[in-house]
Amino acid sequence: MSLIVQKYGGSSVADAQSIRRVAARIIETKKAGHDVVVTVSAMGDTTDDLIDLANQVSGTPDSREMDMLLTTGERISMSLLAMAIRGLGFDARSFTGSQAGMKTDAQHGRARIVDVTPTRIRQALDEGAIAIVAGFQGFNHDSRDITTLGRGGSDTTAVALAAVMGAEVCEIYTDVDGVFSADPRVVKKARKLDRVSYEEMLELASAGAKVINVRAVEFARRHGVSLHIRSSFTQESGTWISEASEGETVEESIVAGVTGDTSEAKITVVGVPDIPGKAAGIFTIVATAGANIDLIVQNVSVHDTGQTDISFTLPKEDGPKAMEALEAAKADSGFESLIYDDHIGRLSVVGAGMRTNAGVSAQLFTALSGAGINIEMISTSEIRISVIMREEILSDAVLAVHTAFGLDGDTDATVHAGTGR
Ligand code: ADP
Ligand code: ASP
Ligand code: MG
Repeated sequence: MSLIVQKYGGSSVADAQSIRRVAARIIETKKAGHDVVVTVSAMGDTTDDLIDLANQVSGTPDSREMDMLLTTGERISMSLLAMAIRGLGFDARSFTGSQAGMKTDAQHGRARIVDVTPTRIRQALDEGAIAIVAGFQGFNHDSRDITTLGRGGSDTTAVALAAVMGAEVCEIYTDVDGVFSADPRVVKKARKLDRVSYEEMLELASAGAKVINVRAVEFARRHGVSLHIRSSFTQESGTWISEASEGETVEESIVAGVTGDTSEAKITVVGVPDIPGKAAGIFTIVATAGANIDLIVQNVSVHDTGQTDISFTLPKEDGPKAMEALEAAKADSGFESLIYDDHIGRLSVVGAGMRTNAGVSAQLFTALSGAGINIEMISTSEIRISVIMREEILSDAVLAVHTAFGLDGDTDATVHAGTGR
């Protein structure tokens, strides 16, 4: 019997009616003769609401307690889903991350899976039951504490189970029909992509296309898990993610998609002495503080000041600790001051075809200047170009670039549910 792993996102299980609808859908797969393991996210915006609540009781919520709190969201949806399936006459059992054998390291809020031992899941399947696993959570063996895998981590739970249990496919059910050439909430004319390579999906996800978590894609690629991202609101086929064949690019176009991301902030270190070793010192301080740096720009001193400015971007949640660490090192480091800017937007164009096609950057910059958009920073990699701009003009920029690259489709994309939060 083949095994199918299905993951249902929060927007697919937002209320009782949705849970019953998803339960019926799961039963269809079971009735078609498959073993079914389901990973479920917290209902609707539960995780965001719990984070808001934590911030109301504490300015700096403790990370262990935060994980305790957030994992309750998935416990609610998994048990309700199991009840709904049982109500329809099929056997179903829900399991927490630790019951499902999801072992992680000890980093609260961003734990990494180190091993999966799904003994109880296998046993449930052997007994003819549908297994429901709480997404986004695990446990650390040494601290004996509950952990979470980071936002959007239910995708990773699903892929990890699919990899370890040898599933035929891992289906990611969400509120849009698949992966689009841009976020359909921003670009109405975004086109659904039928197939995307792991490589492009990794870049799209890390550039802000939150339809799937970047670590889930990494995991799938490493273990050769084929992914099918699709809507839980229709029966249509969605987007298949797999290895690209030699020389193949998505949909024959140079650019697969355009993304916008407002999750980063920019720090500028002003007046850094322009001598060897200073940049190394600054980035060592930031790395030691545990902040992940994305784009970096250093301006060579134009005047004879012997000083330079260094700007870099990082996730907003890493901003305060990076600023604190840099502030503490200011005297030693010899720079003048720090500027923190959390109103930036990052636009990226992604496509494997960029590798063999010159002129994509020229086309991008022409489109942006045509739309009157000022570029603050630029970074390029083999298959991605990212630019930083003001946050408030990001959506307009994404629309303009999507059109300029000829990505607009003939019909409007459908968003079936969710708040986009
Ligand atoms: P879920 O609750 O199913 O986990 P998410 O909200 O995490 O759903 O992800 C789905 C959302 O991702 C969509 O509603 C859409 O707004 C957003 N999204 C951003 N970029 C893209 C893209 N390129 N293709 C499809 N969806 C995208
Ligand atoms: N509920 C978690 C979140 O909102 C995990 C997930 O949905 O994948 O981030
Ligand atoms: Mg998600």
